[in-house]
Amino acid sequence: MTKTQMMRFQEALETKRHELVREIHAHAGQLAICEDGRDPIDQVQSMNQRDEAVLAVQWLSRVLSDVDAALRAVSEGVYGACVECGEPIRLKRLETIPWASHCIVCQEFIERCEAAQGTDLAWALRFDEDREAA
Ligand SMILES: [Zn+2]
Repeated sequence: MTKTQMMRFQEALETKRHELVREIHAHAGQLAICEDGRDPIDQVQSMNQRDEAVLAVQWLSRVLSDVDAALRAVSEGVYGACVECGEPIRLKRLETIPWASHCIVCQEFIERCEAAQGTDLAWALRFDEDREAA
């Protein structure tokens, strides 16, 4: 990756960072809704909105920490390398997701593991625990 390319990514990352911080503040504002004296339906609605806001803040914070990590990598001059295997992440991938920390191979592996943990693996683990308990 050339210095010019890295600077372009740095700019994109900083722009994204500002956006994320703004969005997090906007959603966090929804978390502080005062519910005194409202009728129950309004309360349920605002609870749903608050749940959505919580999820949004969690998700945005996760992206923000990825963006911060990428900016750190830029300043250390290691931006664009997969944190797992050290191979260069393809430019096309970085252009889509400038805060990508893994190459596509490692990313797919992680996603498969996460998906497995969410379903079969979690089930299998519980099954094992039950069997041991019995
Ligand atoms: Zn990798």
